[in-house]
Amino acid sequence: MRRIVIIGAGQAGLVLALGLQKRGYDVTVVAEKTADEVRYGRLISNQCVFHPALERERELGINLWDDEVQPVEEVAFNAAGGPAGTEPAIAWRQKFDHPAQSVDQRVKVSDWMTLFEAQGGEIRHHKVTPNDLDAYAAEFELVIVAAGRGPQFDALFPRNPEFSPYAEPQRAIGIAYVRTKHPMPPGLIFNLGPHGENFILPVLSVQGKVHGIGFFGIPGGPMDVWHDVTDIDQHLEIGVELLRAHFPWNKGILEEAEPAGPLEMLHGAITPTVRHPVGKLPSGKLVLAMGDTAVTNDPVGGQGANMAARAAKSYQEAILAQEDRDFDEKFMHDAFAKYWAVAQHATAFNNALLAPPPEHVLATLDTAQRVPEVAHRFAHLFENPVGYTGWLTDREVSMRYLQEATARA
Ligand SMILES: Cc1cc2nc3c(=O)[nH]c(=O)nc-3n(C[C@H](O)[C@H](O)[C@H](O)COP(=O)(O)OP(=O)(O)OC[C@H]3O[C@@H](n4cnc5c(N)ncnc54)[C@H](O)[C@@H]3O)c2cc1C
Repeated sequence: MRRIVIIGAGQAGLVLALGLQKRGYDVTVVAEKTADEVRYGRLISNQCVFHPALERERELGINLWDDEVQPVEEVAFNAAGGPAGTEPAIAWRQKFDHPAQSVDQRVKVSDWMTLFEAQGGEIRHHKVTPNDLDAYAAEFELVIVAAGRGPQFDALFPRNPEFSPYAEPQRAIGIAYVRTKHPMPPGLIFNLGPHGENFILPVLSVQGKVHGIGFFGIPGGPMDVWHDVTDIDQHLEIGVELLRAHFPWNKGILEEAEPAGPLEMLHGAITPTVRHPVGKLPSGKLVLAMGDTAVTNDPVGGQGANMAARAAKSYQEAILAQEDRDFDEKFMHDAFAKYWAVAQHATAFNNALLAPPPEHVLATLDTAQRVPEVAHRFAHLFENPVGYTGWLTDREVSMRYLQEATARA
């Protein structure tokens, strides 16, 4: 039986571990934290997971929350700038063909760790350093590093400047989970303004059913406000002011909200980074990066967890196809290339969302108000960003499509 170790128990590592376990592989996971430390720890993400990634979880039988989670049935898109300032300049709503879900990653990760162990999988608990990897490479046939974003494995998996247009974070992020008495739509709210974005969505969290409210502010601007925030009440007060000032049509949501708990907030800033995915250890042995360790997107486009699930599927297919052959350098590059064939579009879409929208994208968002086909196509980019490239990357193609779709309507 092939022996594989996955460093990191997150959306990427655990979906792969559970998938390989189901196929009879001897998989070991190395996790920095125990299931309880994750479950009772701080907020990690806002994790809107769309249909393709959910389907993968269903294929593996690890969709443990389908009966409890509030489905994310639609997206309500608003762009600021209406004449009185109190209403959006652009507003449309679009139902997803298949609902998305946001299950708190603390719930997912801790439940999946428990399931993996209950099914006979081994989890070792410690924080792996680059120096530890040679010992793993000696013990296992394949070492996959799925330890999330951040600089800890920078030297092993250097930034690839060709696909990493940003060297600094492009958004100051503040997320909180709240309970609100305000009437809520059955899905995701995406508010776009000149100083940043705001997302609101239903979440099944460790605290039960809540709403996640995320602000993504352009650094140095009026939505870059989280530096000195240390408690959740302060976070909520600032959130109320941000909604009033930038997205006032939704201000009632936070005015009528209370925090879901003292740990239910997160502040940060992420540099979107694509890395060289194959790392060489001092012994000469190779290790393969996966998930955020290989490709980190800013969360503004809601792509990271979706792509982590995608990576797990692609890597699993590559591992199965390798049969008894060595997991050599070619295998590693091919496994990543298969994933990147899709992930590059998610990264391109996400990076584009961080830049001011060009005229043809604004025209698309505007036309979506009147032409349902356009709203449908744009909304479904979140679940399948492959359609972004060659459409919204090309002004002429976009404008011609708008004319044709408008004529059809
Ligand atoms: C604020 C915010 C909002 C987001 N919203 C969305 C969204 O709406 N939709 C979406 O798709 N994505 C979203 N994301 C991104 C998403 O959460 C990540 O892309 C996804 O979790 C990546 O999965 P991963 O398994 O690669 O890494 P992670 O989920 O980070 O998991 C890595 C795991 O490895 C462990 N680990 C780290 N270092 C070590 C070590 N040295 N040794 C052992 N273990 C280690 C960590 O404890 C963790 O459990 C959001 C992220 C943030 C921060």
